[in-house]
Amino acid sequence: MKLHEYQSKRIFSQYGIPIPKGEVAATPQEAEAIAEKLGSRVVIKSQVLVGGRGKAGGIKLAKDPQEAEKLASQILGMQIKGLPVRKVLVDEAADIHSEIYLGITNDRAAHKPVMMASSAGGVEIEEVARQTPEKIIKTHIDPFLGLRDYQARDIALGIGLPAEHWQTFTKIAQGLWKAYENSDATLAEINPLVVTGDNQLLAVDGKMLIDDNSLFRHADLEAMRDLDEEAESETKAREHGLSFIKLDGNIGCMVNGAGLAMATMDILKLFGGAPANFLDIGGGASAEKVAVALRLILTDTNVKAVLFNIFGGITRCDEVARGILTALAEVKPKVPMVIRLVGTNAEEGRKLLADAKMITADTLAEAAQKAVAAAKGGQK
Ligand code: GDP
Ligand code: MN
Repeated sequence: MKLHEYQSKRIFSQYGIPIPKGEVAATPQEAEAIAEKLGSRVVIKSQVLVGGRGKAGGIKLAKDPQEAEKLASQILGMQIKGLPVRKVLVDEAADIHSEIYLGITNDRAAHKPVMMASSAGGVEIEEVARQTPEKIIKTHIDPFLGLRDYQARDIALGIGLPAEHWQTFTKIAQGLWKAYENSDATLAEINPLVVTGDNQLLAVDGKMLIDDNSLFRHADLEAMRDLDEEAESETKAREHGLSFIKLDGNIGCMVNGAGLAMATMDILKLFGGAPANFLDIGGGASAEKVAVALRLILTDTNVKAVLFNIFGGITRCDEVARGILTALAEVKPKVPMVIRLVGTNAEEGRKLLADAKMITADTLAEAAQKAVAAAKGGQK
């Protein structure tokens, strides 16, 4: 789950990281009132769950409350990378002397979190990694020890931060680690962390990604989820306990089991097709769940064919077949559907589906080829 900038910065602030004063507004009038209250130059920042808002024109400086109102009304009407801006953060403007990147993420290869920093802040870190990788300083964090003082100092030295800032920088780096650890984050990032004109460190931007699998123990973070920003299909899927990720292809995939779903997507690609989604309907898929899943797949107008790849293990094929029949009766899809059904009670399952006008296949390769052909409007 992605958090907005204002949410991430509020969390950072709870861990002692200095952030600008500011509040969130949903209307230009609110933005004006906040600017009035702050009584300084402000920065109006679109709150959308994508990076690069600055470049897209979603971040603007205002010298007084009237200008804040005007700019807020412009930004609130914008779409940034396809996402409508519904809220803006009105922050006291920072007088920026220099910009630093500071972030923590998981290094899967090292089996440890890694802190990264760079003097080339403000720019996306992927860009820095491509162009000037030597400018990124990294240190792995032992989760049992946390981020040690000497590690923070090493980073400060590595990015050429003047020694007068090391103590504050250490506090910020350790605060970021604590925020990351306690929130079960997979990313905590300050970009930029700035040195201001009056020589203070300040976290001007903030970004956090929270591990969805940990949300059951973070009711406070779960409550921050912004449903407006999520593809509606993904919200629906979550409500029904389905793992669903929308993709750009035209073959809908209905599969039980995450590994099988991955394999299905791979083999579609192998035969020249493109999956429209990742979907794991899970074990014990009831008729209701199958119907919800089928509806999700079919709301995507790109979908030209659906591939069912069901492996009956603990979940019996006849049960899934009944689910599919119920779902078909309800949803009445107009696109061709290919099914491969194997495993426990596959024979019973196939009999149940015999009248359902589905294209059947015995092997995964055959099913994938038939789905690719069907999506192209070709043979059955
Ligand atoms: P992003 O583009 O989505 O990463 O949004 P950021 O919050 O990082 O803002 C982008 C850039 O706008 C920063 O790197 C700064 O250069 C600039 N910026 C953001 N806030 C301020 C501010 O308060 N004062 C000034 N002068 N520039 C700012
Ligand atoms: Mn940024």
